[in-house]
Amino acid sequence: MKIGVAKEIKKHEYRVGLTPADAKSYMAHGHSVFVESSAGEQAGFSDAAYTEVGAKLLPNAEALFAEADMVIKVKEPQPEECALMREGQIIYTYLHLAAEENLTNLLLEKKVKAVAYETIEEHKTLPCLVPMSEIAGRLSVQEGAKYLEKHYGGGGVLLGGVPGVRRGKVAIIGGGVVGTNAAKIAVGIGADVSILDVNARRLAYLDDIFGSSICTLYSTEANIEQVLSECDVLIGAVLIPGARAPRLVRREHLAMMRPGSVIVDVAVDQGGCIETIHPTTHDDPVYMVDNILHYGVANMPGAVALTSTLALTGTTLTYGLQIADSGLEKAVAGSRAIATGVNTYAGKVTCKAVAEAHGLAY
Ligand code: NAD
Repeated sequence: MKIGVAKEIKKHEYRVGLTPADAKSYMAHGHSVFVESSAGEQAGFSDAAYTEVGAKLLPNAEALFAEADMVIKVKEPQPEECALMREGQIIYTYLHLAAEENLTNLLLEKKVKAVAYETIEEHKTLPCLVPMSEIAGRLSVQEGAKYLEKHYGGGGVLLGGVPGVRRGKVAIIGGGVVGTNAAKIAVGIGADVSILDVNARRLAYLDDIFGSSICTLYSTEANIEQVLSECDVLIGAVLIPGARAPRLVRREHLAMMRPGSVIVDVAVDQGGCIETIHPTTHDDPVYMVDNILHYGVANMPGAVALTSTLALTGTTLTYGLQIADSGLEKAVAGSRAIATGVNTYAGKVTCKAVAEAHGLAY
């Protein structure tokens, strides 16, 4: 199969869908790999790194979409990319179609075979989403620690403290993938860490793995108010699958927090669990409400494009190779994970959640 690696054109997207090492894997399986010029540059992979392993460079997206049987990307295709798609072409990328009616219609019109990273399901997990939550969780503490610094408007607190001076406090609402990874980093830098969740089994798991280095709490209003009055960094990491994040911290709660404390609401991409959060960008990540710094970047992994590319491609490669080796139809017949990834096929929606979101036949 001819594999095409497109250069991302969405603003502030620096990742690439395939590394040179992955290109080598595809070629070892007998496929040819075509890379749009400078596709990997921002993630740290030069054109030469691809050509050295035997991939061929193409000058632009027009040439790439014309050549490839399967186009590998990171972000959802933009309208100008959809215009270049050919009937029957496989598009393998994040799609988020339930929130994108226009894009859904464009993919249906083009009759492409669109496989979405985010709906691939295996062993009751979403393997292509987990790495991004791991990254966002770890980054959330790094960002919180940074904005606590005085010159950013923070309270001037060092999370790890020093001998003779108390450690800073990190409170994490939601103890799933983001929350657990935030806790790892917060514990690692010596902060005093509390995690709140509604799921008792999850709290027991966290207690087992972190022991006495964290405090687990049920996510009740009383406990949320307690941690708000004490914490230096509050991390929002709640998810209710398929629903908007619940608003667990309201504006009046901000008055309970110490001025200069930092809120990092990772759940901002699902509407956020803090009432006063709104999406921000890497260019302008924070703003102040009632003396509390708010960080609401909706695509946090983009900040660490190299790590994110390696983490993403580490999981997408397995399924991509299966699709390339067998063709999409045989791969779907042989793998439930790949079947759950197919969102559109021959002008029809093949993912229930996407069909329901747009009132389309499934
Ligand atoms: P997850 O499903 O692994 O964890 C969510 C946790 O929230 C679960 O443990 C659940 O029990 C808990 N929860 C549900 N309701 C709660 C409540 N009322 N109080 C406390 N906890 C509650 O999800 P995840 O992968 O950790 O993702 C968390 C959020 O981060 C999602 O909204 C996800 O989209 C988002 N995210 C954002 C970025 C970004 O760049 N901003 C990147 C990755 C993930």
